[in-house]
Amino acid sequence: MSVSANYEIINQQINSACEKSGRNRAEVKVIAVTKYVSVARAKEALDAGILHLGENRDEGLLEKWSVLADKPSWHFIGSLQTRKVKNIIDKVDFIHSVDRLSLAVEINKRATRTINCFIQVNVSGEASKHGLEPDQVGEFIYQLKDLSNIRIIGLMTMAPNIKDETELRDCFRKLRQLRDKIVDLNLEFAPCTELSMGMSNDFAIAVEEGATMVRIGTALVGEEVEEAHHEY
Ligand SMILES: *Cc1c(COP(=O)(O)O)cnc(C)c1O
Repeated sequence: MSVSANYEIINQQINSACEKSGRNRAEVKVIAVTKYVSVARAKEALDAGILHLGENRDEGLLEKWSVLADKPSWHFIGSLQTRKVKNIIDKVDFIHSVDRLSLAVEINKRATRTINCFIQVNVSGEASKHGLEPDQVGEFIYQLKDLSNIRIIGLMTMAPNIKDETELRDCFRKLRQLRDKIVDLNLEFAPCTELSMGMSNDFAIAVEEGATMVRIGTALVGEEVEEAHHEY
């Protein structure tokens, strides 16, 4: 299916999730995750009117950036090795995976403008998932106070790879509640109003629970490149 046909279906699902939960559709941005697909397919996403592209590896981001440059806003969504920050820092607008102080310090050091960052939270507690434990986030955030090139705009999580709707909802709701607590702190360096959550299999539930950015790969642009299926 074409990206625009997929996008139409996904938009309808987001619209009804917004209606169901009394949310304003304009609060929800779609990030097309292009890590499995070619540059041509990523370009198709732009042609379909998608403004945000996400990649989880520096190689993938650089390959697509070299062709598409600053046409979309770029989101780095994968776990990020500190030594790779310098490769991507001038290309990305958003980093979704800040999960340790050393990484935040490096981003701050290399950045030549403000980088919008999310703190990644491991809400589900799965050992395989990156991110801070929910009860570490409050203390962590204060450590970022003097990193003037970083703006903590929100929290990000990956839900467990399950079908159980109750459990998924619970995960997203916990991230939202944590976000609300941080918003209440009124920190200038960490407005933390955004929620990056929801992927191909669970984005509708995530939107019902307050997602402001959904990261959708397979359901939107597909997964045409065979060898990119490895876990990194
Ligand atoms: C791959 C990836 C996605 C998109 O996953 P799909 O299930 O293909 O929609 C979203 N977020 C992160 C962090 C990813 O690595």
